[in-house]
Amino acid sequence: MSIFTRIIEGQIPCHRLLENDLVIAFLDVNPLCPGHALVVPKEAKVHLHELSEASAAALGAALPRVAAAILAETGTTAYNVLQNNGALAHQAVMHVHFHIIPKYADGRGLGIGWNAAPIDHAAGAALAGKVAARLRG
Ligand code: 5GP
Repeated sequence: MSIFTRIIEGQIPCHRLLENDLVIAFLDVNPLCPGHALVVPKEAKVHLHELSEASAAALGAALPRVAAAILAETGTTAYNVLQNNGALAHQAVMHVHFHIIPKYADGRGLGIGWNAAPIDHAAGAALAGKVAARLRG
């Protein structure tokens, strides 16, 4: 059982922001900055791609609402939404969650390393074709 399931079941306290049948949102216990929040499906899956459509839809509905309320109360206008999948991708709690992280004018918030390079169009076209075919079923 993940630490977030224990929060959902009321075994561990949290600073709750929103809760419905499918989703809970609360403040991160070790925030990058004030207002750093987590939006969590009650469905206990490790990775985003494992979620039911109902959980995914409920998360999609909750995220903008939680973000808007955090912006309003922190006085920020910028924020990042972060969602890690797998230990290699810095996931520490193995229960799906989205971070909402306000970005303050003084730099507090999420720091990002973005080592981008121009796409290889031949490889990109080949991959896009395969993924699109998989998505068409
Ligand atoms: P990730 O798995 O995406 O790396 O991040 C997990 C996040 O969960 C961290 O930011 C961490 O501070 C937060 N976290 C871990 N345990 C608890 C907890 O018991 N309560 C709350 N509110 N946050 C937690």
